[in-house]
Amino acid sequence: MSMLELKKVHAYYGAIHALHGITLTVNPGEIVTLIGSNGAGKSTTLKAICGQAKMTGEVWFAGKEISSWQPHRIAGSGIAHVPEGRKIFPKLTVKENLEMGAFSVKDKKLIKTRIEQAFAYFPRLKERYHQAGGTMSGGEQQMLAIARALMMNPEILLLDEPSMGLAPVLVDQIFDIIHELNEDGMTILLVEQNAYQALQVAHRGYVIQTGEIILQDDAARLLANDQIQEAYLA
Ligand code: ATP
Repeated sequence: MSMLELKKVHAYYGAIHALHGITLTVNPGEIVTLIGSNGAGKSTTLKAICGQAKMTGEVWFAGKEISSWQPHRIAGSGIAHVPEGRKIFPKLTVKENLEMGAFSVKDKKLIKTRIEQAFAYFPRLKERYHQAGGTMSGGEQQMLAIARALMMNPEILLLDEPSMGLAPVLVDQIFDIIHELNEDGMTILLVEQNAYQALQVAHRGYVIQTGEIILQDDAARLLANDQIQEAYLA
C-alpha cells in the first residue's frame, strides 16, 4: 500500500486555478521529489496535502482519505510539513521551538527523548539549545524547522525547498541529513528548485509545470533525461 496518494487534485486561490489534477504516489521508505520552476505549484501541492488549500480531488494517507480533514488533524496523524521559509518561532529558544513541535505530546520524558533523537541529526542545535531561533543562521534555522517537525514522530516529512537561500556547504549538509533520515526509515516528499541535488538524493521524481505533472520517473532516469537537463539542470 502506498503511504501517500494524490488523485486528480485541483487547488484554487480564489479565482486562480493553481493545480490542474495532480496525481502522485509516495511509497513507504521512499524519497520522492517534486521539481519545477517558480510558481509551478510545488508549495500548493504540499498545502493541499496538509489541508491548507482549497481543493478538489482526493488525498489518501495510510489507507484513509484525508481530503476533508482539518490541518491539525492531518498534522496529528503523522504528516509533518516543513513550510518554505522555515517558519520557526524567532523569539523562542531552540529548546522552546522543539517543545512547541511536540505540542500534543503530554509525556515530558518522551519529549526529552525526541529532542535527543533530533540532536543526533542536528548536533549544531544542541550547542544552540538556549539561543533564540531568530538569532541563528539560515542553515541552523532550517535545521531547527526540520528538527521541530520530527518532534511529532511523523511517518512522512513534507519538505518545502529546504535548501533555499543557503550557502553551498549548508545545502550539502541539509541534503546529507535528508539522506540520513531516509536511511533510518523516514519517508520524504521533497519539493525543490535545486533539481540536481534533489534528484540525486531521491528515489523517484515528478516534474510539475503550471499545475500539472508533465513527467515522472526514477530519479536516475530523470537526471539523465535531456529535456530535464535543459530545463532544470542547466
Ligand atoms: P515557488 O517556488 O515560487 O513557491 P511553487 O512551485 O511552490 O513556486 P506555488 O507557490 O505552489 O508554486 O504557486 C502556484 C501558483 O499559485 C502560482 O501561480 C502562484 O502565483 C499562485 N499562488 C500561490 N499562492 C497564492 C496565494 N496565496 N494567492 C494567490 N495565488 C497564489
